[in-house]
Amino acid sequence: MSPLASRLERFSTSPSQIMTLRVRELQAAGRDIVKLTQGEPDFPTPDHIKQAAVAAMAADETKYGPVAGTVALRQAVIDKFKTDNGLDYAMNEVIVGAGAKQILFDALMALISHGDEAVIAAPYWTSYPDMVQFAGGTPVIVDTELQNGHKMTPAELDRALGPNTKILMMNSPCNPTGAVYDADELAGLAEVLRRYPNVIVVSDDIYEHLIFDGRSFSTLAQVAPDLKERTITINGVSKAHAMTGWRIGFAGGPAPLIAGLVKIQSQSTSGTSTISQAAAVEALRGNQDHVGERTAILAARRDRLLAAVQAIDGLDATRPHGALYLYCRCEGVLGTTSPEGRRINSDADFAEYLIEEAGVAVVAGAAYGLSPYLRASFTMSEAELDKAAERLADGVAKLRR
Ligand code: PLP
Repeated sequence: MSPLASRLERFSTSPSQIMTLRVRELQAAGRDIVKLTQGEPDFPTPDHIKQAAVAAMAADETKYGPVAGTVALRQAVIDKFKTDNGLDYAMNEVIVGAGAKQILFDALMALISHGDEAVIAAPYWTSYPDMVQFAGGTPVIVDTELQNGHKMTPAELDRALGPNTKILMMNSPCNPTGAVYDADELAGLAEVLRRYPNVIVVSDDIYEHLIFDGRSFSTLAQVAPDLKERTITINGVSKAHAMTGWRIGFAGGPAPLIAGLVKIQSQSTSGTSTISQAAAVEALRGNQDHVGERTAILAARRDRLLAAVQAIDGLDATRPHGALYLYCRCEGVLGTTSPEGRRINSDADFAEYLIEEAGVAVVAGAAYGLSPYLRASFTMSEAELDKAAERLADGVAKLRR
């Protein structure tokens, strides 16, 4: 076969997906691996949402729908933005796509021209730099500090912005740190952005409802209404409603940008599944009890894994206030050797050791732009988390200096 297009060289395969595949392979070979790599809660999609999909099929809602999304779902998205976030959008200012991920990808494709820069705070979701590069842009990474809760400060943002900046990526609650920007922190960043009128904000709010400890959620366009005309606010049903497989994401933003996304969608996917869209209408409009109940369960799981990690000599983690992950510092295990003679000189070595010799899968911090760390999901049952914690503790105890 002739070589693949060179544009593929600007992409790497998602490290968490590589790890998930690896776990599947090892499990298929009979190995017992506990997975802390999941980017999704282990809960099922609530029944009333599944029933809405069944009803849509029964009503033959099985044909091509409008490229931008069904009117019913876009209206539900408009109402959601108004009720939850105080944001007003018209029908031509919202779009529905195949997950928040597709909307992010299309937004970057629609906005970035060759040489444009996109400012991304590290640690970041692994896909952002790859997507920026794929679109022909240059990621500009801002290293955040642990003492600031891994949140970008206005001064750090100011230093990163320049004449070539086109995009600021925002993600709160953050994957992988669980950091949550409050309204004042967003207002501080907005103050800086006012001096850079050409910068467009891409706000990835997918973890909006996975927020703990009584914290409230804020998003930039709400905190700084004057920046709404240059902000695209992206969200979806994947995480809050345990609907990752249904592939529904949505966004609100300026009409010309949304028209650009619709254009891309019209020549790529023709829009996402009409059946999933019917289910998403129910997710947004129907009973929301599961959201609070499940968030409380996740907070308890977070506390359990956090306490276990903090008790392990050589590992440490701070309490994440949102999302699904602990970002664990593992500097204390560097420079050690495993029972099978593996040298642990980086977080990637440590993650490799854990899956190969300790039977627990995590993702190395290198994938998220800040080492030496591990990302460990607390999406599993308490029994699974206890098993994982035991293996982590045993694995670390067996390392020799
Ligand atoms: N944004 C972030 C920060 C994520 O962590 C994820 C999934 O892990 C997504 C977007 C993708 O969401 P969706 O499943 O709706 O495409």
